[in-house]
Amino acid sequence: MFNVSLAPPGAEPPDAAQLRSHQLEAELRQDAGRFRVLTGDRPTGPLHVGHLFGTLANRVRLQDLGVDVLVLIADYQTITDRESPAGLPADVLGQVADYIAAGIDPERSTIFAHSQVEELNQLMMPFLSLVSVAEVARNPTVKDEFASVGGSAMSALMFTYPVHQAADILFCRANLVPVGSDQLPHIELTRTIARRFNGCYSPRRPYFPEPEGLLTQAPLILGVDGTKMSKSRANAIAMAASEDETARLIRRAKTDAEREITYEPERRPEVSNLVLLAALCLERPPEDVAAELGGAGAAGLKRLLTDALNERLRPLRHRRRELANDPAYLRSVLANGTNRAREIATVTLNDVRELMHNAY
Ligand code: ATP
Ligand code: MG
Repeated sequence: MFNVSLAPPGAEPPDAAQLRSHQLEAELRQDAGRFRVLTGDRPTGPLHVGHLFGTLANRVRLQDLGVDVLVLIADYQTITDRESPAGLPADVLGQVADYIAAGIDPERSTIFAHSQVEELNQLMMPFLSLVSVAEVARNPTVKDEFASVGGSAMSALMFTYPVHQAADILFCRANLVPVGSDQLPHIELTRTIARRFNGCYSPRRPYFPEPEGLLTQAPLILGVDGTKMSKSRANAIAMAASEDETARLIRRAKTDAEREITYEPERRPEVSNLVLLAALCLERPPEDVAAELGGAGAAGLKRLLTDALNERLRPLRHRRRELANDPAYLRSVLANGTNRAREIATVTLNDVRELMHNAY
């Protein structure tokens, strides 16, 4: 949900997960009210077009189907990344503005930051007791982080991050988590925690659902340097970027030496990524967009994409500017979201105390 990593041994093979996602889509169309979705992002900077096409559009779709969608801003999970926490409030409010501008409707969906919901975080205590150090250490994101910081420098918060994520998902008893396939191991650990909790404390009537991952059909959008578009890689086109900035970024986007424009994601990832972005903006098949460009070359493709993206983002950017000028409204959205999340979390924590015989 919040980070990208590789699937570990033992995780459900992507094909099975893919098949299950198709079934879930059919169930969603039949009875959206049966589902509660928890999804979220770390507030590490402005959201970009990778988020828009990769995940935000899907969240809006689920919301519009009538699913109860909770969108979590994982602010505790930025502590270790930040040199100074002073910029956090601006990033959090910016993220709220990005969500609303992209179509998340705070009247129907719940937007909140997990640091504000004490009862959610308290669930970490029993959940930590249900997994072993070895199980957490096997999580691919934890393993990657461990390797990248040379092991001993890793914070205990980062180490326990998959358990925190289980608390994020289970506090509201979400049963559906839209994810990329890299995130399936995280869902697996959350399911393990739910199953063990139920087995230990609520064997007759399972209390926590075992949430399922809904694989997004979302493409992986590449940044202007040809690697995954990421907030932290200086390769992103922010949703809120100006039209000139967008043009400038696209102008420097990596392409290749072939003049003919084609859509061949395997063989020509960079050119195909630009074609795909244009196609997503124009709501047309990428093959058609490529065929129409034909011999127009990279310059023609970039001109088309700049116009299409600026056109597609214009209303969103307009709305986002209005929202940015109204921080009081953004704070009120967060406050309302926090209230709703706390109401839910309080019920869950009270139930958990009862079930664990911690109610005196
Ligand atoms: P960071 O660089 O801080 O890790 P990021 O840009 O990778 O930031 P995340 O907050 O890690 O963004 O991502 C949140 C979710 O957004 C991911 O799990 C993924 O579903 C989606 N996402 C992020 N980047 C892309 C992308 N380039 N293409 C498609 N989806 C993306
Ligand atoms: Mg990331």
